[in-house]
Amino acid sequence: MFWVDEQNSGSRTITSSNNDDTQEILAYFTRSYCKNKRGTEMEEKILVTGGAGYIGSHTVVQLLEAGLSVVVFDNLSNSSRAVIDRISKLTGSKSLDFIEGDIRDRTAVRHALRDQKISAVVHFAGLKAVGESETEPLKYYDNNVSGSVVLLEEMMKTDINTIVFSSSATVYGNPEYSQYHEDTPPAPANVYGRTKLIVEDILRDLKKSQPSWRIALLRYFNPVGAHDSGLIGENPKGIPNNLMPFIAQVAVGVRQKLSVYGNDYPTPDGTGLRDYIHVEDLAAGHLATLQYLKIKPTLLTLNLGTGQSYSVLDIIKAFEKASGKAIPYEVVGRREGDLAEYYADPSLAEKILGWKAQLGIDRMCADTWRWKKNNPAGYSNIK
Ligand code: NAD
Ligand code: UDP
Repeated sequence: MFWVDEQNSGSRTITSSNNDDTQEILAYFTRSYCKNKRGTEMEEKILVTGGAGYIGSHTVVQLLEAGLSVVVFDNLSNSSRAVIDRISKLTGSKSLDFIEGDIRDRTAVRHALRDQKISAVVHFAGLKAVGESETEPLKYYDNNVSGSVVLLEEMMKTDINTIVFSSSATVYGNPEYSQYHEDTPPAPANVYGRTKLIVEDILRDLKKSQPSWRIALLRYFNPVGAHDSGLIGENPKGIPNNLMPFIAQVAVGVRQKLSVYGNDYPTPDGTGLRDYIHVEDLAAGHLATLQYLKIKPTLLTLNLGTGQSYSVLDIIKAFEKASGKAIPYEVVGRREGDLAEYYADPSLAEKILGWKAQLGIDRMCADTWRWKKNNPAGYSNIK
C-alpha cells in the first residue's frame, strides 16, 4: 500500500509507482495535501536532524499534521528544548519524539535510526553563519560535512536510503545571471556555501554508487516568516545577520535602528533584492518532496523560492504596514560579499512536485511580527 487519502475520495489506495500516471498521481496528492494536510496519511517515521531549529520546527509541525511520526534529533547548539514543547502544544500530536544528540556522534545516530525504525531522514542539522564559516572553517567542515558523512554511513548500515538535504542558494555563488536555475553551475563564494556543495557532491556520488537511494537536494532561497500561531519562529542568537529578524527586533524595541547595507546597487531603489520565501511554504516543500521520493527512487535537485525578489526598502515598508511600527533605518556602506540581486527559478519544483510557494510578503511580515511580539526574547525566557 502506498498512500491512503480519506478526505477527498472516501478511501483511495494507490499501489503502483512505476507507470505513466506517476505525475498525475503526484499532482493529485500534492493538491490534496495543500487543501487539507490531514487528508493524506503516511504510516512512516521520519528522523528530522536539526528539527528544533527554525526551518526544521516548522517542517516537523507539517509532517505531524500529515499523519507522519517524527523523531527530532538535535544537539540544541542553536535551538531550545522549548521548541519541542511548543510543537507538541501546537499539534497535540503524540507522534513526536525528541533525542538530544549530535550528528557526529555515530553511536547516538545509529541508535536513533535503528531503535526508532526510521524510514526516511530530513537533514537540517548544520551551522549556517556565513561570516563565522570564514573565520572558523574547520568548525563548519566538521559539523556540516563530517556530520553528514556520519549520518549517511549510519543510514547505509541500517538500510535507510531516503534523505532530504537542506542545501542553499549560496551554492550558486555569484553567477552571471540573477535568476538561478538548478543547472546554473555552482561556485560558492564562502566556506558555508562550500560545505553545502560538498555534501551535495557526496550525495550525488552516493546515488551513482547506490542507485536505490532516494535523495533530494533542496536549495532554499531566503526563508522568513513564522507559524501563524505565533508559537514558533526564528530565534537567532546574538545580533541577527539576516534582514527580517533584525527588522523584527527593531520593531519590538530590542534594537534602535536597522543599518541598510548600501543604496547604490543597480536596482530600482538602490538596495539589495532577494527572493524571500515563507517558512511555511518551505516546510510544505519538504512534505511534497518526501511524497515524491516515496514514489520515485531518484535524485532531485530543486530550488525552493518564490521567483520574485523584494528590496530592503520593500521589506521595511511591508513590515511597518504589518506591525504598525516605524522601522528607523540608516543607509551605511555595502556589506562585503553581498550581491545586488538574486532569485530562484522555481519552475522545476512546481513541475516535478506540483509545489509552489503560496504566501506573499505581507503574510511573511505579519507572521514574523506575531511571533516576535508574542516572544520578544524568543525562547530564551521559556523553560
Ligand atoms: P537553525 O540553526 O535554526 O537550525 C539548525 C538546527 O540544527 C539547530 O536546531 C541546531 O541546534 C541543530 N544542529 C546544528 N548542528 C548540529 C549537529 N552537529 N548535530 C545535531 N544538531 C545540530 O537553522 P535553520 O535556519 O533552520 O536552517 C536549517 C538548515 O537549512 C541548515 O542546514 C541551513 O544551513 C539550511 N539553510 C538555511 C537557510 C536560512 O536562511 N535559514 C537558507 C538556506 C539553507
Ligand atoms: N541587509 C541589510 N541590513 C541588515 C541585514 C541585511 O541591509 O542588517 C540586506 C542585505 O544587504 C541584503 C538583504 O538585506 O541585500 C538580505 O540580507 P540577508 O542577510 O537577510 O540575506 P542574504 O544576503 O544572505 O541573502
